[in-house]
Amino acid sequence: MIELTPENYYSLETDWDYMSNTQFKNFQKCEAKELARLKGEWEPETKSSSTNGNPLIMGNFVHSYFESKESHEAFIEANKAELTSSRGKTAGKLKAPYKKAETMIKTLEDDELFDYFYKPGEKESIVTGEIDGVAWKGKLDSMSLDKGYVCDLKTVDDIHKRHYNPEERRWVSFVEDYGYHMQMALYQELVRQTYGKVLTPLMFAVSKQDVPDKIAIDFEKEDDKQLMREAMDKIKANQQHYRKVMMGEEEPKACGHCEYCRRIKKLSKFTHAIDIEVF
Ligand SMILES: [Zn+2]
Repeated sequence: MIELTPENYYSLETDWDYMSNTQFKNFQKCEAKELARLKGEWEPETKSSSTNGNPLIMGNFVHSYFESKESHEAFIEANKAELTSSRGKTAGKLKAPYKKAETMIKTLEDDELFDYFYKPGEKESIVTGEIDGVAWKGKLDSMSLDKGYVCDLKTVDDIHKRHYNPEERRWVSFVEDYGYHMQMALYQELVRQTYGKVLTPLMFAVSKQDVPDKIAIDFEKEDDKQLMREAMDKIKANQQHYRKVMMGEEEPKACGHCEYCRRIKKLSKFTHAIDIEVF
């Protein structure tokens, strides 16, 4: 197995050796799409919007700032083309969405609670572990081993926006919609295996609204802990199948609706008008 470093952590190569939270979530959404991504046959597109920029770059802009001055400068240098405008009076200046990222940073930076919990922690530490024989990797935004907690930082459109959960037919928050209970449960377990300590998971979120909102989240309520336990059960119930799909031992299921599935779609039958699925 390849040893994980900050350079290879996000590579396809290490994704074949270690399962990650993102990879597991991708498999849950569409096994065919995730297998194609792992094989390098298909790359997900992250679209830039004129108001919110590219969500990945937006997130990394904020993250790298709180990591270190060097990381932030290196990030800006590496993404100059996307971050800055190239013509007119504003040439060389940050584009509007990324100016917003600076406002988001300021919102957090001025906050004492954020300053106390997030700032001092060790940034971007890599943890690994084994769950029922499958190797996993995780990267922690900010970990305070001595104080006993680990923090994750999220950039979201609107903290209080409702998201529909079709399985349970109810509205949920962004935390449930993006499966963050699973991420927190997983990180807690990987830290326990790496350092022998059970840390309290915490999350800070900052919104992309013109006047950014922010929130400090814990997972201490019994219902949150229950969702974390259920998430670990879900991992244990599905990971072997995903590994077998990767090894070519089991067929990947295609969701039939995602960008990848639409791209390779061929019509082979008729659907009764009354049976068209709606989500
Ligand atoms: Zn699909």
